[in-house]
Amino acid sequence: MTKSVTKRPRKRVARCDWCGEKIASSGRGRTPRFCSASHRQRAYEYRKLKLAQAVRSPLAALKNDLAETELKRLIAREVTAMVNRALAERGVPPIPSAHKPPQLKLLKPDE
Ligand SMILES: [Zn+2]
Repeated sequence: MTKSVTKRPRKRVARCDWCGEKIASSGRGRTPRFCSASHRQRAYEYRKLKLAQAVRSPLAALKNDLAETELKRLIAREVTAMVNRALAERGVPPIPSAHKPPQLKLLKPDE
């Protein structure tokens, strides 16, 4: 008979979907998505509000989504620039860009 091996649950570090704080989980079961019940509730209210906005005014909701996406992109670019400046001060080469900006392509009417 083979020796039974008890798998020890691996500790995983997740981040709260609301505040981004690290969440320590036991490693058993589903990985938690929120650090607290109140942040789960805030996220639920935010989703509900966005859905209500989208139903009331789809164009305004789309504009908000685009503004949010643009803001996240600007923050990511600034953070990358800050990290690269800090690396450059230490003589470390910069982090290569993870993705290229989307290229717009004009389509001819027959394409
Ligand atoms: Zn949180």
